[in-house]
Amino acid sequence: MTKLIFEKTKKGTSGINLTDEEINFDFINSKYINNSKETILPEISELEVMRHYKELSDKNFCIEKGFYPLGSCTMKYNPKVNEVLSALEGFCELHPLQEDEDSQGALKLMYKLQESLKTITGMDAVTLQPAAGAHGELCGMMIVKKYFETIGENRKNVIIPDSAHGTNPASAAMCGFNIVEIKSNEKGLVDIEALKSVLNENTAAIMLTNPNTLGLFEEDILEISKLVHEAGALLYYDGANMNAILGHTNPKLMGFDIVHMNLHKTFSTPHGGGGPGAGPVGVVESLKEYLPSPTIEYNGEKYIRNFDIKHSIGKMKAFYGNFSVLIRAYAYILMTGKELKDVSSNAVLNANYIMNKLKKYYFLPYDRKCMHEFVLSGEWQKEQGVNTLGIAKRLMDSNFHPPTVYFPLIVHEAIMIEPTESETKERLDEFIDTMIDIANEIKENPEEVLKHPLNTPVRKVDETLAARKPDLAYKL
Ligand SMILES: *Cc1c(COP(=O)(O)O)cnc(C)c1O
Repeated sequence: MTKLIFEKTKKGTSGINLTDEEINFDFINSKYINNSKETILPEISELEVMRHYKELSDKNFCIEKGFYPLGSCTMKYNPKVNEVLSALEGFCELHPLQEDEDSQGALKLMYKLQESLKTITGMDAVTLQPAAGAHGELCGMMIVKKYFETIGENRKNVIIPDSAHGTNPASAAMCGFNIVEIKSNEKGLVDIEALKSVLNENTAAIMLTNPNTLGLFEEDILEISKLVHEAGALLYYDGANMNAILGHTNPKLMGFDIVHMNLHKTFSTPHGGGGPGAGPVGVVESLKEYLPSPTIEYNGEKYIRNFDIKHSIGKMKAFYGNFSVLIRAYAYILMTGKELKDVSSNAVLNANYIMNKLKKYYFLPYDRKCMHEFVLSGEWQKEQGVNTLGIAKRLMDSNFHPPTVYFPLIVHEAIMIEPTESETKERLDEFIDTMIDIANEIKENPEEVLKHPLNTPVRKVDETLAARKPDLAYKL
């Protein structure tokens, strides 16, 4: 069991050997120094500090360590050059309160990124402020709300398919909308008749993910957008996962009015630890005046922040959003260039390759060509005594991160696999072989499979207890 660094403390040990005279804190205003209480800090040597953190990082699973097919999360390779660029002194030492004249480089980068995202999505204007996908959704829903308030229409409903990511209904509900859920049809797509039956003068928007969370492309998207627009409502595109469509199509061509993207999924920012991320939002011309302020613009001479936005929903985030994520995304887009299209072609090819190899061994509820991801069901294995959770735990002992499990909710025992474009065929084959081996192990000896994981730092945890009664505070 790893000890906490506080438990490794040996009184009087120090990692540094500066004298009191060398530690000169005179530059800090004394009112900010709290002398009232002794600060409890670990006392430990420099070498032991390094060993402690190395040990912790070794326990972590990351994309550099192995295949990470976590569906809906796009765990692709994040080129290391992005890290170097985002750490450039000129970027990271720039103070956000600096005047526009002194921040031309940073503003130019943001402007150029906005332009790139406009091209990729087909939208007419983009804000970079939101800090995550869900935050982008919130921004989008606030725009929907303000738009209908401004044109004097009182529309209360937002339609969301049952396959949607959970953040969609949450974001719409936070803006005071009623959520109207529609069931998917037998193909896993939006049921047009179900849509027609709920679409009316109370509908403010529909939130759609395309390809949807089953990895399937909405074939009827043009009819859907026509129906929604005829009802006077707006179409919101959850573009968290753009990895299937880059350069092949875009939300504007499909008829969407508002879109958010997750730079930390599609555009190669590390996001295993829960942030920071960025969820830029793009809108069509008629919604431009609703974007959060300021927007970054170019006036023909210099790059400026524009605070003069007629119906702006206000600010979504302090300053400009998570700037260092924006640098990484822009670097990735520039470095990939025209090959962004190949990113999606390869992501889709890899997903279809695995799907077709595994569908004999695991139930595939929607047997159609998939996009960047697909969803299997662990139902056959469950009948033999091992559920999807058991399969996920077993995979960990073969050094694979488990796929996303039990999502989307419309597939029983869901196993959602997204390989991304950055994997080699050899790695995909290794994963396929392991999944087949596991299916065979379950047939032969399910009890043995249920014993896993055996080699992970933490074995099986009580998930209910962890969720219901999290006890995260360490008491000395
Ligand atoms: C990841 C994801 C989101 C939410 O993005 P966050 O950055 O985690 O807030 C929304 N929709 C879909 C489809 C996603 O995959």
